[in-house]
Amino acid sequence: METIQEVKTRVYKFGDKSADGDSTMRNLLGGKGANLAEMSKIGIPVPPGFTITTEVCTEYNELGKEAIIDIILEEVQQAVVNIEEIMGAKFGDKENPLLVSVRSGARVSMPGMMDTVLNLGLNDEVVLGLAKKTNNERFAWDSYRRFIQMYGSVVLGMKPKSKDDIDPFEEIIEHLKEKREITLDTDFTIQDLKDLVYDFKDAVKKRTGHSFPTDPWEQLWGAVIAVFNSWNGDRAVYYRNMHGYPADWGTAVNVQAMVYGNMGNNSGTGVCFTRDAATGENVFNGEYLINAQGEDVVAGVRTPQQVTKLGSERWAELAKISDEERIEKYPSLEELMPSIYKELYKYQEILEKHYRDMQDLEFTIQDGKLWILQTRNGKRTGAAMVKIAIDLLKSGIVDEKETLLRIEPNKLDELLHPVFDPQAIKRAKIIAQGLPASPGAATGQIVFFADEAKKFKNSILVRIETSPEDLEGMNIAKGILTARGGMTSHAAVVARGLGKCCISGAGALKIDYKEKTMMIEGKVYNEGDWISLNGTTGNIFDGKVATMEPELSGEFAELMDLSKKYQTMKVRTNADSPKDALIARSFGADGIGLTRTEHMFFEADRIKAMREMILAYTVKGRKVALETLLPMQRKDFEGIFRAMEGHPVTIRLLDPPLHEFVPHQLATQKELAEDMHISLEAVKLKVSELNEFNPMLGHRGCRLGNTYPEITEMQTRAIIEAALNIKKEGINTIPEIMVPLVGTVEEFALQEEIIRKTAQTVFEERNDTVEFLVGTMIEVPRAALTANKIAQKADFFSFGTNDLTQMVFGYSRDDAGKFLPIYLEKGILKSDPFEVLEQEGVGQLVKMGTERGRKTNPNLKVGICGEHGGEPRSVEFCFKTGMDYVSCSPFRVPIARIAAAQAAIKQSL
Ligand code: PEP
Ligand code: MG
Repeated sequence: METIQEVKTRVYKFGDKSADGDSTMRNLLGGKGANLAEMSKIGIPVPPGFTITTEVCTEYNELGKEAIIDIILEEVQQAVVNIEEIMGAKFGDKENPLLVSVRSGARVSMPGMMDTVLNLGLNDEVVLGLAKKTNNERFAWDSYRRFIQMYGSVVLGMKPKSKDDIDPFEEIIEHLKEKREITLDTDFTIQDLKDLVYDFKDAVKKRTGHSFPTDPWEQLWGAVIAVFNSWNGDRAVYYRNMHGYPADWGTAVNVQAMVYGNMGNNSGTGVCFTRDAATGENVFNGEYLINAQGEDVVAGVRTPQQVTKLGSERWAELAKISDEERIEKYPSLEELMPSIYKELYKYQEILEKHYRDMQDLEFTIQDGKLWILQTRNGKRTGAAMVKIAIDLLKSGIVDEKETLLRIEPNKLDELLHPVFDPQAIKRAKIIAQGLPASPGAATGQIVFFADEAKKFKNSILVRIETSPEDLEGMNIAKGILTARGGMTSHAAVVARGLGKCCISGAGALKIDYKEKTMMIEGKVYNEGDWISLNGTTGNIFDGKVATMEPELSGEFAELMDLSKKYQTMKVRTNADSPKDALIARSFGADGIGLTRTEHMFFEADRIKAMREMILAYTVKGRKVALETLLPMQRKDFEGIFRAMEGHPVTIRLLDPPLHEFVPHQLATQKELAEDMHISLEAVKLKVSELNEFNPMLGHRGCRLGNTYPEITEMQTRAIIEAALNIKKEGINTIPEIMVPLVGTVEEFALQEEIIRKTAQTVFEERNDTVEFLVGTMIEVPRAALTANKIAQKADFFSFGTNDLTQMVFGYSRDDAGKFLPIYLEKGILKSDPFEVLEQEGVGQLVKMGTERGRKTNPNLKVGICGEHGGEPRSVEFCFKTGMDYVSCSPFRVPIARIAAAQAAIKQSL
């Protein structure tokens, strides 16, 4: 027999100022369920309901439909009775019916990714009861036809699968509109709505072979199971993979009493934010529609009105609408329903204070009564994230540590994106205007379908409106432009989440998907034409407009200062030029962790000398060519040392295989032969000699330096001479000379010897010295395994996790793109190991290499310079491993700094 303690609660009730759960139970109740419970507890008027836990979703995936219904049946029945008692209505009752909504709710918000069913509990008899009870026949039939449409799409699988599929319900609606010569849904008569119900049910029967379910309980179970299934739907899986959310989290299901925003002109529905989600400004704002249901606001079919008077005035100014017209046609809620507005204002204040963060609220006004449907921490742009965090810190609501922990490091990326060049923008031609839905600048070529976003390197996705299916394409496009929809439309919300520039509701656009054209005031734009978007102002420009680096806000600087206070691990940068080094310094880089010297050889004036060096058949010939390269390299290093003002600089010796430098086309081969006064055949022969079957595992890294020591000599000389020259300018640089692709201590020892000998020669020539270190990349598994031996010789290790990942997995860096996306989709891998350091396997070698290295050389400096050095989760791992620094590309330095500070704070808590 089960004891009391062993009985697990699977259904949590809420409503009427009480709840079984609370906001701490996010993992079990999902974000939405936890918040509904919490709101109910603190006295916010939420429609009563219950949450089926995320654990049940996982149980369902194991046990199947019948078994799971059996397990939760009794708890669900009791919870429905609880709603019935609070609302004074009965589920499935013909006289006094209670209708419910069924929604998903994972522990993190996944907007639009999973399914929802509204108005559940209606059938041919209940609809009559609803009409009588509300004294609104039109509303009852409208709800009924919406319910069948939604249930048919979501639960009965009638949703179109691709853009070419026809939505059977939309088709019926369009036919009826044509027949009746009307354009708006609101023009339907009650008889039209009844006809729609009839035709919809007929379509269901034809498509599925079964009649539409009339039993409200059958409807409820169908919807609950459909929500569980949507956790494993394509959209949700893509979203989960994109964010690295594991499949076993599952989704909760929230069943709640329906309240109606479409019961006439004393009803309405809306979305609001306690602060501006685009800029972070501390102003309450939002949008609403009179006589509408929630999805009408988000779907962007009708242009929503502003909640506040200030917002409404700002909107009218942008839309070039006079104040008279605004007040008459688009009044704010503050003006139209002042007492409801006051109540809403009070709740948003309570909620922001309670959750100590910017909230995103959904509300419904049913016949003059305000209901809050949900609250959650609002999605925001990177700029808003920083401003809100600093504002909350300054007002004492959040302390320093929490301020830093709340920053999503990757979102800082958005702040560092280009903006339009002010000069270019003056000359640019504005062709239309929309709403500034998500800030930033984007310039690109038009595509009309999300799955075609890849067609151009820079594409702008132009849509009448977007839907959750478009997510992947929206992510690929540089910017998003929609003809319909407001600031809370799907396009706007998703774009802000992605940090993509977006303009929504540009009404002047006439989009023809069939012809793939967009017309603006008579001018036709075709697929592939260039346009530019300013997501901060809503301006749409003809053609390409030049962009430039952004200026960073004062709040950004304050945040980075705060980060410095808590950061213990250093953040260096990977930079191959003084320009990159300077950018990284401006972001607070503590030095350079990797200079890839080979990049310096590719430049036009050097490649010739480099090729001559490679094509030389004798050591003497090679040395002559290297002498030409020496002053060039020295100058490069001087520039970098100067930019770094005495901070450490790690310079890596030549790494890639030589065949990358020689010409492979006949014309350039001929040119080279002429320049070098040798035959074309000789060039061709050398090129074919250098060809390798597997260049990634071939003649590269220290294998080059060990077979052509004169390359190592030249590079060492250039580094040491540059450091001595810079010393004269008063900058004391300690160069760290790094040997790549070492696998055995002998490989390293030979190179080290050459480096130290060459440095000594230069010191004697110059009669001056500088301090320098000699270390190695750890990127071959054998190096990590024998790190104890290598560390006896090396001053430092830098983990090259790009190559290490390649060799540990046996995935070619150049070819993995062919199968990695499929591996991610199938869940074989949780994330791309070239992006996020794979801790179990690759990480084990990193840990082992660090520990073994430090055992024989306690002073060993350890860092990382693979791409992972700028990825927040990997940065945390490096911190835990005890690294001295991470190194990443200049624009990721702020991200890595915040991640490093967060890791230190987490450890201290
Ligand atoms: C690495 O392998 O991680 C590395 C930094 O070197 P590269 O990417 O140049 O091979
Ligand atoms: Mg490497």
